[in-house]
Amino acid sequence: MGSTQRALLLSKELNLFTYGDLIQRYPFRYLDRTQVYKVADLNDDLPYVQVRGMLRGKELVGEGPKQRLTAKVGDGTGELELVWFKGIKWVQQVAKNNQEYIVFGKPTMFNGRPQMAHPELEEVGENKPGQSFLQPVYNTSEKLKNYHRVDSKAIMRMTAELLKLAQPHIKESLSPALIERYGLMPKVHALQQIHFPQSAELLAAAQFRLKFEELFFVQLKLLRQRDQRKVTLAGQVFKEVPTLVDFYKNHLTFDLTGAQKRVIHDIYKDFCTGKQMNRLLQGDVGSGKTIVAFISMLMAADNGAQSCLMAPTEILADQHYTGLKVYADALGIKIGKLTGSTRTSERRVLHEELRNGTMHMLVGTHALLEDVVQFRNLGLTIMDEQHRFGVAQRSKLWQKNPHIIPHVLVMTATPIPRTLAMTLYGDLDVSVIDELPAGRKPIVTVHRFDANRLKVFEFIRDQVKIGRQVYIVYPLIEESETMDYKDLTDGYESVARAFPEMQISIVHGRMKAEEKDYEMQRFIKKETQIMVATTVIEVGVNVPNASVMVIESAERFGLSQLHQLRGRVGRGADQSYCILMTGFKLSKDARTRLETMVRTNNGFEIADIDLKLRGPGDLMGTQQSGVLDLLIADLAKDGRILSESRAAAQTILAEDPNLASPENANIRHHIESLPATAVNWSRIS
Ligand code: ADP
Ligand code: MG
Repeated sequence: MGSTQRALLLSKELNLFTYGDLIQRYPFRYLDRTQVYKVADLNDDLPYVQVRGMLRGKELVGEGPKQRLTAKVGDGTGELELVWFKGIKWVQQVAKNNQEYIVFGKPTMFNGRPQMAHPELEEVGENKPGQSFLQPVYNTSEKLKNYHRVDSKAIMRMTAELLKLAQPHIKESLSPALIERYGLMPKVHALQQIHFPQSAELLAAAQFRLKFEELFFVQLKLLRQRDQRKVTLAGQVFKEVPTLVDFYKNHLTFDLTGAQKRVIHDIYKDFCTGKQMNRLLQGDVGSGKTIVAFISMLMAADNGAQSCLMAPTEILADQHYTGLKVYADALGIKIGKLTGSTRTSERRVLHEELRNGTMHMLVGTHALLEDVVQFRNLGLTIMDEQHRFGVAQRSKLWQKNPHIIPHVLVMTATPIPRTLAMTLYGDLDVSVIDELPAGRKPIVTVHRFDANRLKVFEFIRDQVKIGRQVYIVYPLIEESETMDYKDLTDGYESVARAFPEMQISIVHGRMKAEEKDYEMQRFIKKETQIMVATTVIEVGVNVPNASVMVIESAERFGLSQLHQLRGRVGRGADQSYCILMTGFKLSKDARTRLETMVRTNNGFEIADIDLKLRGPGDLMGTQQSGVLDLLIADLAKDGRILSESRAAAQTILAEDPNLASPENANIRHHIESLPATAVNWSRIS
């Protein structure tokens, strides 16, 4: 194949467009060719290994398509049988009886004897002592491998050649000070060692260097973006807080947690700077984010600005509105609600009140975004459970104040691991509520098999008898909505049969908004004792008297989702329970998820495990973010390197914000050499 043709293929199949792309296509693993195994030690569990011994008894066996070539290699501890089904002619020529070889391949046991199919052979002799190294393995595509023979080996050869040519041109991208402080391997060596490591230690050093560099430039970019935005965008100042003081003194019925106070302080400080706030508020389910939102909205109202709180579902918007209206009414603040089901006549009034400024606070769903919704002076927008919103929607909210961009507070209960948050939201300021309100009892979580359903039902009956309410949740996966719907209705019927004396609500995605609302309200008012639902109740719903969460087919849920669902209970003073129901057949990952849930209530710990199980690409809301197209760093594993590289980036920017000093020339040149279109960071903030 010609080189142009090959380049075309590589670009199509592997997204490789430049030599740089090829060099930066790092091996995804290495075969250990430093260690020589004894035949007697071989077993099925070993990966690719090498054995050294004398080849004997080369023999053609069988005929036609069943023909194969076999041989034996002995090393004094036993004999290893080698077999080839393909390329027999060639092996016939090169494999010689009574020659010593290093044999490399995957051992399998056959009738208690070790075998190796299609091993590689490497002659050992006086001038060929046999090499010892780590062999790189590259990802390739089926098409490349099968039709064009561009397998891992071929990529290895191309890379080796290319490295030789490129070596004199590889420029150091980090400053001498950084290299010194973090003990980093020079770039040119790192690239050589990552592909062709001479030892495990050198490989580790190369990996560290390249991961550090990758994360460093990501952080540098995010931090610069954040700093630039801070310089350029003005925000309204909310300094006066008379109504807030009134609220604290006379209306707030509980003490704020230390974490809530700290976050409120962060926000207040932002409001006093005259710059636009862009803050992410992370807090585990039940940590009390809503009151923080309301207090921020009060600060806006106290300073003549309007605010809006946007929720991802109608149920949640209703609940926020109902909860906050009590406070707002007591304080003489006007609060309104706008959702898809708000009537046209009400809308007309609402629109007018928003335009003339008599409406101070607005709670709603996506309906808030419509162009007809205009404010007199929108000063603060809050988004609850932000992973449901796209950036396009966020920018729409910005446009609702053409004079001065509103402050933005994004609230999420998805406990994004710190490492991921730093990367995904590296350009936002982050506040964390890491403390639950006092007096909460940790939720007791158990795993039960479907076969024990009667016992679980008994437990439910006992809990309802002492006045509690119960959620029973069924999975909803979009691809098989019909089947899930059947699961849900079947479930509902069996629950109804089991508890004829109880009132049961049902809520699912196919219901109209009013129907959902009606059922939800019945449950909130305690008219029903059991709520059978799909995951529509996942986000934010707050019914403190509900203390039992039964999750059906729990093995079908992701870990974060299970944790979110569990967070629907444990909101009152009573002991709460989460019961995970499954069949007997469970995958290894499913078992890990269930065990984790039973073991811990800590959202951040759960998020970390979730990240490890699924990889960052699967985490909610991050799928299309583009940020995760990392070449070598792994956010699930490289948290420490990420923190270090971020600290390094911060230090450098603090001293030299424009990277203008000669000391940082390498860094500046590297950034200038990057393609401008690499990653569209604006998509994630
Ligand atoms: P989330 O962070 O999941 O949105 P919410 O804001 O819905 O949590 O709060 C959960 C419950 O805890 C609500 O009933 C709320 O009134 C209550 N709550 C919030 N903060 C406190 C506090 N400091 N002390 C006691 N209860 C609180
Ligand atoms: Mg909430």
